[in-house]
Amino acid sequence: MAQQDVVIIGGGISGLSLAFYCSQAGMKTTLIEKSKTVGGSFASHQYSSNNDSFWLEMGAHTCYSSYQNLLGIVETCGIADTIIPREKVPFTLLKNGEVKSIMSGLNIMELLVNGPNIFRLKKDNMSVKEYYSKIVGANNYRNTVSHFFNAVPSQMTDDFPADMMFKSRPKRKDVLKNYTFKGGLQSVANTIAARKGIEVRTGSAAESVTMSGGKYVVKTEDGQEYTASTLALALPSAIASRLLQNVNQAVAHHLSLLKFADVDSVGVVVRKENISLKPVAAIISPNDTFFSMVSRDTVPDNNFRGFAFHFRPGLDDNAKFKRITEVLGIGLPKIEHTTTKMNVVPSLRLGHREWAQKIDSLLGGAKNLYLTGNYFGGMAIEDCVSRSHDEFDRMAGKR
Ligand SMILES: Cc1cc2nc3c(=O)[nH]c(=O)nc-3n(C[C@H](O)[C@H](O)[C@H](O)COP(=O)(O)OP(=O)(O)OC[C@H]3O[C@@H](n4cnc5c(N)ncnc54)[C@H](O)[C@@H]3O)c2cc1C
Repeated sequence: MAQQDVVIIGGGISGLSLAFYCSQAGMKTTLIEKSKTVGGSFASHQYSSNNDSFWLEMGAHTCYSSYQNLLGIVETCGIADTIIPREKVPFTLLKNGEVKSIMSGLNIMELLVNGPNIFRLKKDNMSVKEYYSKIVGANNYRNTVSHFFNAVPSQMTDDFPADMMFKSRPKRKDVLKNYTFKGGLQSVANTIAARKGIEVRTGSAAESVTMSGGKYVVKTEDGQEYTASTLALALPSAIASRLLQNVNQAVAHHLSLLKFADVDSVGVVVRKENISLKPVAAIISPNDTFFSMVSRDTVPDNNFRGFAFHFRPGLDDNAKFKRITEVLGIGLPKIEHTTTKMNVVPSLRLGHREWAQKIDSLLGGAKNLYLTGNYFGGMAIEDCVSRSHDEFDRMAGKR
């Protein structure tokens, strides 16, 4: 039975960033991840053919100059020179089978009439639908803007709290406004996982958590057991809730109240010469079977183009590939490679801040138990890293 200072369950960016902070403080840190690779929704799919290799983001794809905690980690890891710009290709709208600009989906008169409300209205206690219908106009919201919002967390966002959709944070002036990394986001995940002081166990799903002799004991599906005085969960809320049933029922119950959505994603890789679709950053198609198609055209490759379709749950493969080939305008044989990914994202509702305050107060009374993830201050990468930073400060007695 391995003895650790801290065991972290979940190897997405939340768990990785917390592991980074713990290892920096000299703590013996073990990170347990169910998948074969770390990254979670921050992982990129890798494809190789002969000597050509290609990566495609199956979850997150863009970082911003306001991601200060993430940038701090990147700089400490010595990989700031791997930051690369994203090509300026358009976010587009698919309507009546045609790829168009976003502006083409907006009624300019309605926008001009409602736009000034932005200076008058506060987002507090307003849902996305209530707030943005007043800023862009009810028709613009319903016909176009809501579909862009739905594309962000791949689910209906009408009832999300307006102040948690797009948060404004202080920006770094010395960093590109938006960027990714050479080798995709996976390269950052791999770099953190390889840090000295972090022992990473991939392909190992945590099955249960119990207490023994005042310590946490984590058992995994592959029969391993880890004991630590400190436990951190960096998992989707429902899984964290299940694992905490035996050690803290109050926290487990409060976690179970949170709603979430599964994102069913299919990635396809196509040789450049086999597709004529103009380069796009993404396609949003109102009321379609997919919430968004995010392309790799933002980082052009010599040989391939890649497209990740984020579908509504419950479709079979035939339906998904029918739609993929229609949207890309190619036959199935032209698809050189496919991959799939299931991500979990929170479904935030008004009152979420109060929910988060309550969980923090419950954690305050729990013994060396920490929670990080994308369901606290927001679901952006920086929200995850900020939460991990705060939880590490609490661990270190700074909060
Ligand atoms: C399609 C999509 C696009 C996005 N685009 C962006 C973007 O461009 N920019 C941005 O800032 N944010 C974006 N986001 C949001 C952001 O990527 C996520 O909120 C964030 O990566 C979540 O990280 P996490 O570590 O909290 O959770 P996850 O990434 O879900 O990590 C949780 C990990 O726990 C593991 N796990 C689950 N059960 C177990 C178990 N029993 N034992 C061990 N491990 C387990 C999972 O395999 C997973 O690796 C996007 C999200 C999605 C889904």
